[in-house]
Amino acid sequence: MAEVVFEGVTKIYPGNVKAVDDLDLTIRDREFIVLVGPSGCGKSTTLRMVAGLEDITAGTIRIDDRVVNDIAPKDRDIAMVFQNYALYPHMTVYKNMAFGLMLRRRYAGWGHPLAYLLSPERYRAAREERREIDKRVRDAAAILGIEGLLNRRPKALSGGQRQRVAVGRAIVRNPKTYLFDEPLSNLDAKLRVEMRAEIKRLHRRVQTTTIYVIHDQEEAMTLGDRVVVMKDAFVQQCTTPFELYERPVNRFVAGFVGTPPMNFLEGRIGRDGDELFFDDGQCRLLVGPEHRQRVAAFVGQPLIMGVRPERLAPATDAPPGTTLRVTVGVVEPLGERMDVYASTGRGVPLICRIDAQKRVHEGDMVDMQVDVNRVHFFEPSGAGSNVGLAAAT
Ligand code: ADP
Repeated sequence: MAEVVFEGVTKIYPGNVKAVDDLDLTIRDREFIVLVGPSGCGKSTTLRMVAGLEDITAGTIRIDDRVVNDIAPKDRDIAMVFQNYALYPHMTVYKNMAFGLMLRRRYAGWGHPLAYLLSPERYRAAREERREIDKRVRDAAAILGIEGLLNRRPKALSGGQRQRVAVGRAIVRNPKTYLFDEPLSNLDAKLRVEMRAEIKRLHRRVQTTTIYVIHDQEEAMTLGDRVVVMKDAFVQQCTTPFELYERPVNRFVAGFVGTPPMNFLEGRIGRDGDELFFDDGQCRLLVGPEHRQRVAAFVGQPLIMGVRPERLAPATDAPPGTTLRVTVGVVEPLGERMDVYASTGRGVPLICRIDAQKRVHEGDMVDMQVDVNRVHFFEPSGAGSNVGLAAAT
């Protein structure tokens, strides 16, 4: 169990590449936190600094009360699982899992019967140590359902089984913190879903602080208690998957989280009597009561409206000021739902995820009703802050 705290952590690689910039983050004891972001945003570097595989240029990392900046990786009490899990090919599964513990034995060498003649106590301690390792390996194997594979060598295992062994190797160490770096990306889609659920179950069972790096936002959302979205060496937002989806702090997070991604429309805020509206030059959409107070400060100014594909639905009797007229392009059936790739009157592409029962065909002109209380408004320049949230805080 451990709390992991980053304070002003910066990493600059040779060549002046700033991989992580002034990171402040507290990962709570027992928390499962996921670092996600596009390739090159600094997530692996962050993890590798916790592991001690990269030096820290500035700032401190603490695990519990101990600053670990200058502590060797082996003394940090962490266990890391990589994408390339590199099992020892000449060792059985059992030995692969036991190996790290065997190296750390205090009484290594005293288990030999002849050692008994020199020191019966040490001989017994060595036996006890050996039994403890055996128990940990067998317990971990049971948790992961690989008891039947302990005598096999890695080449006789499937990808998923190898991955389980790699995770098992981390579990037996019973560390303070688990670090996972894209551990499932070599697996096929079905296996990945299974292993993901397994890692989540494992966390529930062992309750060890876990930091997990991944580039896929959908996977990130399914795994983390909290998700840290990074971009260009900076943390953009760190919160629960629900909050990330419902209250993205800026346009980047809004567009990064969610599948299909959020639609963005450029327009201006106008006033008509008591009502505010968003005008994209073709359609006028009422600003919902939830947003009115915060958006009022932007009358006459440009804003970007973000609307998730699932907040659009074809409607024939929608109240005025709640629809966007679109031309339907490609329709992708997904079983219960379908994705409609459409474009607005101004030619802006728009994806709508709608009920598959609705009759919508390529070439149709359709009025899509917008859930006006569930849209977002972003500043068109700078960080593209979510206007609603900025004014709320
Ligand atoms: P991510 O895991 O998000 O894909 P990384 O942490 O691996 O990102 O990399 C962050 C940035 O640091 C990238 O620009 C990458 O090119 C750079 N970088 C990573 N490792 C090194 C290195 N050993 N030397 C120089 N630059 C590096």
